[in-house]
Amino acid sequence: MTDLPKKHLFDIPEGMIYLDGNSLGPLPKGAVERATKVLTEEWGKELIRAWNTADWMALPQKVGDRIATLIGAAPGSVATGDTLSIKVYQALAAALKMRPERRVILSDNGNFPSDLYMAQGLISTIGKDYELRTVAPEEVAGAITEEVAVVMLTEVDYRSGRRHDMRALTAAAHQAGAVMLWDLAHSAGALPVDLTAANAEFAVGCSYKYLNGGPGAPAFIYARPDILQQVEPALSGWLGHEAPFAMEPGYRPAMTTERLRVGTPPIVQLSILDAALDIWDDVDMAQLRAASMALCETFIAEVERRCPELTLASPRDAEQRGSQVSFAFAEGYPVMQALIDRGAIGDFRAPNILRFGFTPLYIDQQDVIRAAEILQEVMSSACWKDAKYQVRGRVT
Ligand SMILES: *Cc1c(COP(=O)(O)O)cnc(C)c1O
Repeated sequence: MTDLPKKHLFDIPEGMIYLDGNSLGPLPKGAVERATKVLTEEWGKELIRAWNTADWMALPQKVGDRIATLIGAAPGSVATGDTLSIKVYQALAAALKMRPERRVILSDNGNFPSDLYMAQGLISTIGKDYELRTVAPEEVAGAITEEVAVVMLTEVDYRSGRRHDMRALTAAAHQAGAVMLWDLAHSAGALPVDLTAANAEFAVGCSYKYLNGGPGAPAFIYARPDILQQVEPALSGWLGHEAPFAMEPGYRPAMTTERLRVGTPPIVQLSILDAALDIWDDVDMAQLRAASMALCETFIAEVERRCPELTLASPRDAEQRGSQVSFAFAEGYPVMQALIDRGAIGDFRAPNILRFGFTPLYIDQQDVIRAAEILQEVMSSACWKDAKYQVRGRVT
């Protein structure tokens, strides 16, 4: 089997099986050392000088270039900062401006709510008669008409793990004269992505899921190099200006991807992410994908054999899935709480989804089998009926 020898690079509590790296990746050991250095030596001793002496100002681009290699993008084409929701707004606003005569944003109804909310907020800001149109994921291709300005999709569905065909849908969008925006939140670090081959105009994603950048780690945004000069930043902050320290009264966008930056970069988080990305230097994405598929296949087979009450809610064909597997069960919430209590950590997504992320950097076949055993114990004993598992936390 193709387990990757990277587990020792993460600090995961003894005995825990962590199947939630699709939501928040675990702590890379190198991040602790790096954060300590940034806090004590750079911020602590250098203070303001560190923007130059520790090259803080170059860090957003350096990290962007490292992410670019993981998503098949050219160096210089990825900017980092802010959160993914903000990056969705920026990309969408810029994309709409590229098709001023069109009024429809097309997405699918399985998209992550924040992406849809940001589209709704943008529409209410710009007014006019814009429309957010959502269709079932299977119906997207047929819904790309010449009314559509932007097709905005998340490659891997956060709930079901269903995967869109990036190349085919981008080609269909272009065929109809629309601009393509991909959200790679559940793709970057999860499977091979080739943005250059897909030829999409925009892509966005976050770095705290499969890239293990830590809670609130900065997001990324990609603009295809040949359209960059047409990108009009809607969030025209000073660090996207061509000359931020000229302190000019008027905004002029940077000639580089830096025009997609907004304000002061989160240096501590970027440093942690930079350290987390060290782990990826020698990871072969094709090998990672093969290992991820093998883990998912094992989990599906084990759970279906052991827990007949659960229904697979992800595509059965591994090619059609991202790096996660979901099962539906009406009482999914308490089942997940009971599972977490026994050291196997996944998460619950309303209304009835038990979700498990498989990240071969630190999960191996043994972990998967053990997690399925624990799930079987929870189901067959019905221990999830215990009152303590019914209490909902603020975050599920
Ligand atoms: C995780 C996720 C988000 C979260 O956005 P934040 O602004 O980082 O909180 C947005 N969109 C998708 C598709 C996601 O998977």
